[in-house]
Amino acid sequence: MSLMPCPECAQQISTLANHCPHCGFLTRQRPQADDGGVVATVIPYKNVAALVAYYCAVFGLIPGFGLILAPAGLICGIFGLRKRLREPRVKGLAHALVGLILGGLVTVGYAVLIFLMVTGRFR
Ligand SMILES: [Zn+2]
Repeated sequence: MSLMPCPECAQQISTLANHCPHCGFLTRQRPQADDGGVVATVIPYKNVAALVAYYCAVFGLIPGFGLILAPAGLICGIFGLRKRLREPRVKGLAHALVGLILGGLVTVGYAVLIFLMVTGRFR
């Protein structure tokens, strides 16, 4: 632990202190955990689209639900991925990709299934 002068009152304060104990000046704008760290990687709460995409794609694996959830996961995955590429600190790359790929596969699967059902009916 080292000391530094407070930018406000110039008294010696810890470099680890979030605020000056003498005058209360905030030496750090935000706590270091602002980028979300591990939590944001596991649950990218700042990238809602990626999170929604992930859960849509996962629950889209449930027969029947996928018809609505898989395309939603695919679309949200695209939005999540775009957001992640524009703002790298929002994270959620893995979630967006899972939503995109899984949602895409399930959507194609349902499209094929519907196609077979429709064409089979007219035979
Ligand atoms: Zn101070």
